[in-house]
Amino acid sequence: MDRAIKAEILADLESQLERAESLATDDLARKIKEIGFRCEICGDCCRGEDNSVAVFPFEIRGIADETGESWLEVAGPPLDGEWDCEGSFHTLEWRLRKTGRDCRYFSDKGCKIYEARPLLCTTYPFYLEDCRLRWSECRGLGGEIGTGDSLILAELLKRRQIVEIREAVKLVKRYDDFERGEPSPYGRCIVHDSAGEHLIGWSEIPGALGRRLRLSRGR
Ligand code: SF4
Repeated sequence: MDRAIKAEILADLESQLERAESLATDDLARKIKEIGFRCEICGDCCRGEDNSVAVFPFEIRGIADETGESWLEVAGPPLDGEWDCEGSFHTLEWRLRKTGRDCRYFSDKGCKIYEARPLLCTTYPFYLEDCRLRWSECRGLGGEIGTGDSLILAELLKRRQIVEIREAVKLVKRYDDFERGEPSPYGRCIVHDSAGEHLIGWSEIPGALGRRLRLSRGR
């Protein structure tokens, strides 16, 4: 990424941040109330192939403190990424680890890390896209929500949007681009985030290399 492109992306993020910081949560709460939402405690958002929770470094640290787990027990790289000319795999995100198809913190009694759960989980099924309210599929949509709860949700959404933009700004500032290359079993996994580059040996995340090689080679 050359300097001009970096500057352009940062300028865009700064204007998104200004909009997010001045977002009126009472308007947002009104929209949420119109759409309606009542959690049915079905756990669908925590289970299944499509369950994939993006987490920021500060959230990973919070969960690791809460559970006593290591960083890589809490989170790992997503399947999508790019390979460099030395055969290393690069990605810009962390995802909560899963047990089979489900989030590893899901249990029949609910979320095992409820107080430390990621921002994404606190606002599901809603999210903001440049301050515009969006929502994912959820059987709780259309349910009755009180004024107080819709305001709490609106404030969480605003906070999440601000955090997402600030994390993106730090990531872009620290990001060093690389020459693209072919998938290889001999490189490493490199996660770029707001704290910089994390270099992970494939042996630290058993099974992760084979899936990425197969996906990248279209098999
Ligand atoms: S962290 Fe908790 S709320 Fe979030 S997906 Fe996992 S079990 Fe569900």
